[in-house]
Amino acid sequence: MYKQLQDDINGIESLFGKVKQQGIRFLQDIQHRPTTVKYTTGPSSKISEEGIGALGALARFNEQFEQAIVGSTGPRYWGFVTGGSTPAAIMGDWLAAVYDQNTQTIKGQGDISAVIEKDAIALLLELFDLPADFTGGFVTGATMSNFTCLGVARQWLGKKYGKDIAREGVSGRLPVLTTTPHSSSLKSLSMLGMGSSNFITVKTMEGNREAMDMTDLEVKINELQGQPFILISSAATVNTADFDDFKTISKLKEKYDCWWHIDAAFGGFAALSKEHKHLLDGWAGADSITVDSHKWLNVPYENAVFFVKEKHSHLQIETFQNSNAPYLGNPLENFNYLNFLPENSRRLKALPVWFTLMAYGREGYRTIVENSIAMARQFGKYMENNERFELLAPVRLNTVCFTLKGKEDLAGLFLSRLNDTQKVFMTPTIYKGRKGIRAAFVNWRTTESDIKIAIDEMEKIYRSF
Ligand SMILES: *Cc1c(COP(=O)(O)O)cnc(C)c1O
Repeated sequence: MYKQLQDDINGIESLFGKVKQQGIRFLQDIQHRPTTVKYTTGPSSKISEEGIGALGALARFNEQFEQAIVGSTGPRYWGFVTGGSTPAAIMGDWLAAVYDQNTQTIKGQGDISAVIEKDAIALLLELFDLPADFTGGFVTGATMSNFTCLGVARQWLGKKYGKDIAREGVSGRLPVLTTTPHSSSLKSLSMLGMGSSNFITVKTMEGNREAMDMTDLEVKINELQGQPFILISSAATVNTADFDDFKTISKLKEKYDCWWHIDAAFGGFAALSKEHKHLLDGWAGADSITVDSHKWLNVPYENAVFFVKEKHSHLQIETFQNSNAPYLGNPLENFNYLNFLPENSRRLKALPVWFTLMAYGREGYRTIVENSIAMARQFGKYMENNERFELLAPVRLNTVCFTLKGKEDLAGLFLSRLNDTQKVFMTPTIYKGRKGIRAAFVNWRTTESDIKIAIDEMEKIYRSF
């Protein structure tokens, strides 16, 4: 065995101890970790002939990069939709690295990891109050979950025309209807060969809304003259957390032949809020649903799930099977995750999810979700009747979309000064043609004092304008 490896395996207790201490220090100080940093990159590292050992690598990393690691897992990182990590989720994730399983098969290879994956999926279905006729699996993020779901949708649509698109490829235009799709759904259409601009836009509802207009949806469906289609709907748009009307869509689905997909990357968690769960009424009727775990579930990146109705499993296997690899078994006979989703080899992504759900249960997650909603409300409340800021849309769930009252053009400059404080981080947006700023609350650590810190900084910057 190579000397450095032998030394490291002999000293593993001390090495792991150092990493543990570094992790603890980082998390205990997370309140003060800057949310943005300025750094200049030096020349890139050079591979050394002999290696510097694990301890050497840690020292080099700390010297070269550690100071520039931002507090994105902390309580005041409100850009994009950025979740943190619960202690139990980190435990599961660390063990997933230690165990280094390749999560594929259910039976045959003595690998329990796929069983854990199924178990975690069952827990999630329960958490969201979704029926057990969905199957699911873990992918890297909501982008890949949308890709997986829309891949099965594509196969379903092809079959309607007597085509096996997975084998034959896409030909012709496949009708897709949507209103305010997340960019990753369009990226998925691009990756699936369906074309990211090949969709029919259904109007948004009247008023300050991003949700789909149900009357126009039926108009657009009728224009298809009976052709089957794919409908991509939203459970929480990124700007204003608006929801499509799933009750009405589920009724329309009985009338028209369609594959109904819901992107519920973070909006699915509305199921845990007494006051908001009605927004999801009817969603159980969907063919496929995307939910991110590295957002509101607060597990480390890269983690998301897809839920697809079990009755479509044959289409899913047709899409993702490894059909020319006999050593992997017959994809139609033996269930194996590698024939069910885009990746073949995968780490045990289910473990952090399983740990955190076991650790905190339904009530724990209810509390996280209710708290995020309360924080968004409180931050939104500050914008109401405020002479400096205004809301671009009402706070519907956990996002706040706002701008500078009467000084919209300065929103970008204001935001960059705000982010430069390193105390809070938000992201720019354009909403209905207006320049704005967005804050999204999904981190389990955020409290009222964090809202106060952000508001104090905002006031200071505004006064300096
Ligand atoms: C974040 C998000 C995505 C993309 O998720 P990734 O995890 O970044 O791949 C898709 N849809 C919605 C609604 C999102 O909020």
